[in-house]
Amino acid sequence: MFATLSDRLATTFKNIRGKGRLTDADIDATAREIRIALLEADVALPVVREFVSRIKERARGEEVSQALNPAQQIVKIVNEELVTILGGETRRLRYAKNGPTVIMLAGLQGAGKTTLAAKLALWLKEQGKAPMLVAADLQRPNAVNQLQVNGERVNVPVFAPEPGNGVGNPVEVARDAIEEAKRKLHDVVIVDTAGRLGIDEELMKQAADIKAAVNPDEVLFVVDAMIGQDAVKTAQAFLDGVGYDGVVLTKLDGDARGGAALSIVQITGKPVMFASNGEKMTDFDLFHPDRMAGRILD
Ligand code: GDP
Repeated sequence: MFATLSDRLATTFKNIRGKGRLTDADIDATAREIRIALLEADVALPVVREFVSRIKERARGEEVSQALNPAQQIVKIVNEELVTILGGETRRLRYAKNGPTVIMLAGLQGAGKTTLAAKLALWLKEQGKAPMLVAADLQRPNAVNQLQVNGERVNVPVFAPEPGNGVGNPVEVARDAIEEAKRKLHDVVIVDTAGRLGIDEELMKQAADIKAAVNPDEVLFVVDAMIGQDAVKTAQAFLDGVGYDGVVLTKLDGDARGGAALSIVQITGKPVMFASNGEKMTDFDLFHPDRMAGRILD
């Protein structure tokens, strides 16, 4: 991810490197190239506009004109502004003060939700927590089984409806799971909900019903960073239909252009909290805007 963007930005900065003073024409040319680089990386247009205008404004100011090395100062500004559009500070999970912390996952099918649920459970275990996974995705016959397989991989119990009891009601499953977690002293409950291939009303309503029933401490929207501009559209639809507190970007190891990662915080106003970047259960961590910006400008 970001390979093309990184290359393009590196070339842009090379063009001004070594100049003792930057003219307005230099700044305009640099801003134009940054704009093209971001658009090519699939960053949403309003985000590009705002970003480039901030860069231009700062590049024309004293911090650049009085810098010993103006080009380096521009790189520093771009870095700072990248950190800002990626959300600034790392946003950490909020745990419930009493009783189990409930984390609900929502997103489209194929986003990597089931995999993410297990990765998050493993990560929580490493933080000293005792998580439990809940299979409230009763839409796809295989979804419960898939979560059970992933749960086994990280050795975390999975609460699922009894087989043979029909399709079951995901709201009830989620409610029962929280009671079970209390009985068994699990301090974090991760509720996996149904995903569809596309956004539809029934999916949104079901997720909203689960949310209303279990009152989660954190609702996380899980989205595949490889789907580019569609990630932003889906994020907006889930924000309107279900609402959430934070975003999890998956498949950051892919070779997509990275625009989703750079647009989603600004468009939704919600922080990216976690990043999933591979098929292994340990390919997962908190999302750090500064490290991501650093990688782009590496
Ligand atoms: P769900 O339908 O949202 O539950 O998606 P799954 O968890 O089943 O994931 C869909 C596919 O994406 C699976 O083949 C996963 O192995 C794969 N996958 C999930 N997360 C990642 C990731 O971070 N990187 C890569 N490369 N593949 C992932």
